[in-house]
Amino acid sequence: MERSFDSWEQEVIRCIRCGACQNVCPVFKELQAESTVARGRVKLIRGVIDKDLELTEGFINKMSLCLMCKACVVNCPSGVKVDKLVEAARKEIAEKKGLSPLKNLIFRLVLKNRWVFNTGMKAGSVLQGLVFRKGPLGQGMLPRMSLGIDKRRLLSPLAAKSFKAMYPVVIKVPAAKLRVAFFTGCMINYIYTDTGRAVINVLKRIGVEVVIPALQNCCGTPVRINGDYETAKAMARANIDAFLKEEVDAVVVACGTCGLSLKEEYAELLEDDPVYAEKAKHLGSMIKDFAELVVSLDGFEDKMGPLPLKVTYHDPCHLVRGLRVKEQPRQIIRSIPGVDFKEMSKPDTCCGSAGSFSLYHYELSTKINDHKVEDVNQTGAEVLVTGCSACRMHIADGLNRQGVSVKVMHTAQLLEMAYEAKAH
Ligand code: SF4
Ligand code: SF4
Repeated sequence: MERSFDSWEQEVIRCIRCGACQNVCPVFKELQAESTVARGRVKLIRGVIDKDLELTEGFINKMSLCLMCKACVVNCPSGVKVDKLVEAARKEIAEKKGLSPLKNLIFRLVLKNRWVFNTGMKAGSVLQGLVFRKGPLGQGMLPRMSLGIDKRRLLSPLAAKSFKAMYPVVIKVPAAKLRVAFFTGCMINYIYTDTGRAVINVLKRIGVEVVIPALQNCCGTPVRINGDYETAKAMARANIDAFLKEEVDAVVVACGTCGLSLKEEYAELLEDDPVYAEKAKHLGSMIKDFAELVVSLDGFEDKMGPLPLKVTYHDPCHLVRGLRVKEQPRQIIRSIPGVDFKEMSKPDTCCGSAGSFSLYHYELSTKINDHKVEDVNQTGAEVLVTGCSACRMHIADGLNRQGVSVKVMHTAQLLEMAYEAKAH
């Protein structure tokens, strides 16, 4: 039986109201309001469970003001799963109040249906010039009109051709040491095809054969964290079917959020499903982040040429606190000859993106992002490397707003550059 909202009382009573979460919550740092820190959110949720509070607009707004960054979770002495509580509250809101017409359309018609999504993205890549113009530093595009998005919001353009349309389903490697399936995620498939290309080139170079299952979908995270569990479950089942039919040693993911979803959250979502509960756990056991997979293979550092670059690294929240991948990307960066690696003072604080958070709460997300840009700036780096496409886009937006010329790329792209430097 699916978990009821009231059953989360067991979790809320674990909060001892110590206030340790105040020191780490990026939203509280900006707003300084108790209702926007973990302790305050937990109290509000308890109020609704105890029937002292209603699902008012104020409550809905406070639940939407969470980045789901897990900073409070890993610093909480009682281990309160605040992000799970906020998600449960959002599910309760979606069930009792319904989704907005826009979310309904995007989640249930577009994201859930691969063909509709793909067709929409194809049309968007042709028509985007009508509604967007080039960004000042040439890294992206800015809306010409409001479109419900802040006109200062730098977005990366949709690729003319999706990543999956550019590659065959199997990328063969002679005498491969491993065979993996690649979960591309939406942003790599439709926007950052350069990251996808780098993942393939790097894996080929180190002797890994790659399968790109054609029937894979969006991982469903935007749908799940907005409370639409039925759609999220349907998307999870479709991905489980698409990946478990491949005969592979692992499933590689190049985004912390997609990775966490496939590794842990599918199993939670489908724990009561008689057919898919075990399959979800099995898929979860096969998930490897790109950097995690690369450093586990002997000799990945042998074939690099020098890159005389000053580089820093941003830890995506779900990669570092969800999948606990912290050292592996640094190991890759440090192993490249010529790279001068400069650590930020707070490399693992959230950049303020949190997917749709940066669209709905742009002003707040830019304030959070400004601290990241400051931190990047003080390193003097020319390149910022990260392991998540949403962070890549949001930090590029922040750098663009402040006129800072730092190139932002995925770990796989830096490694691809190092291999190419050896080849030339
Ligand atoms: S750190 Fe944990 S226990 Fe302490 S107030 Fe925050 S949520 Fe409650
Ligand atoms: S998950 Fe992040 S944004 Fe949400 S309450 Fe915790 S620290 Fe704050």
